[in-house]
Amino acid sequence: MPTHLVPEQGGADNGGVKTQGPPPYCPRCIHYFVTWNPSFPKGCRLFGLKSRRLPSEEVRAANGRDCPSFTEKSGLK
Ligand code: SF4
Repeated sequence: MPTHLVPEQGGADNGGVKTQGPPPYCPRCIHYFVTWNPSFPKGCRLFGLKSRRLPSEEVRAANGRDCPSFTEKSGLK
């Protein structure tokens, strides 16, 4: 599990991930894409959102928890 994702203590039924440190870095995630819209350049295909901020920041702001769906792209250094 990436170090930025910390399972909630005793919270097995909520599927959530507590926030700790910076949110997942979306550009390393398979669900991330660049929209080419200068107003909303960062997108997440999984959540169907486009934003000025990282999509993971939007998820944290909306849910109070970090995105549980970060999936690192293969082949990254
Ligand atoms: S799934 Fe989560 S980590 Fe991946 S791009 Fe979307 S918001 Fe970011």
